[in-house]
Amino acid sequence: AKAAGRNRARFFEPEMAVATRERMTLETSLRPALARGEFELHYQPRIDLRDMSVLGMEALIRWNHPERGRVSPQQFIPIAEETGLIVQIGRWVLEEACVQTRRLIDELGRTICVSVNVSARQLAHQTFVDEVRQVLLDTGLPPACLELELTESALIDDIERTAHMLRELHELGVKLAVDDFGTGYSGLAYLRSFPIDVLKLDRSFVLQHDERISAFDFVKAFVDMAHALKMSVVAEGVETLDVVEFLRSAACDEAQGYYFARPMPLGELRSLLANEACG
Ligand code: C2E
Ligand code: CA
Ligand code: CA
Ligand code: CA
Repeated sequence: AKAAGRNRARFFEPEMAVATRERMTLETSLRPALARGEFELHYQPRIDLRDMSVLGMEALIRWNHPERGRVSPQQFIPIAEETGLIVQIGRWVLEEACVQTRRLIDELGRTICVSVNVSARQLAHQTFVDEVRQVLLDTGLPPACLELELTESALIDDIERTAHMLRELHELGVKLAVDDFGTGYSGLAYLRSFPIDVLKLDRSFVLQHDERISAFDFVKAFVDMAHALKMSVVAEGVETLDVVEFLRSAACDEAQGYYFARPMPLGELRSLLANEACG
């Protein structure tokens, strides 16, 4: 058994080395990706559950790798975060999303809001608030049309500092959302120290239930509590009509997911919204 264990250990070493090399290769090609214009944004519509209209959309980064094709953000965002590259990439995402949304508003002649994912590393930068202020000035995007999605772990990093920063962002007029709610600390209490407008319920939160409380009762109680705290609730990862109906009866405000639309290139979203406006 010992010998087998040793063999196994030897067997795993090269595999780990491969994984590490793979990661390093990705990291190497990630560094120049921004300058080479390999990133683009896709947008996923967010649906108002009262009248099923599209009020906004989430910007999601896509990396078109010259040799590998599309690399998933789940693969490269963690690398970008560890290396600090996320700060430049995140700035690009913010600018691109604001520029494109401003143009879309002009083209469609109606208001539409964009949500941008912000990582903890970006938020940790002293200049972040100034960046947001500057982007809004440069693009002329109405601040109320920009929402920043923050994760729970980014918020609890340094509560005093974060609270101050979020108040400054809120004073600019941008909206603040907590992303992936229900996967981390799940406490509504600590959120009271932050000016949060929106909670995005993670897919797993909507689907979870046990013998004591049904998924419906759980989500309903949660939505009521969020409303009492003047927050609106967006359900993420909605894939079926069942879930849509369930969310509507739980008074959940908005939903996002494959049932309605997948993330799509800007051109497709433009056509979708233009058609919506016609009929
Ligand atoms: P997220 O912010 O939670 O984004 C939602 C993810 O769920 C997206 O994956 C989206 O394509 C996917 N999704 C949407 N509808 C459904 C559905 O009905 N079912 C299921 N199973 N999934 C659905 P994506 O685009 O691969 O992004 C993954 C994660 O990468 C994001 O999770 C976010 O954490 C990160 N990310 C993406 N773009 C950016 C960015 O610009 N900046 C930062 N910092 N992170 C980003
Ligand atoms: Ca998000
Ligand atoms: Ca999310
Ligand atoms: Ca997620």
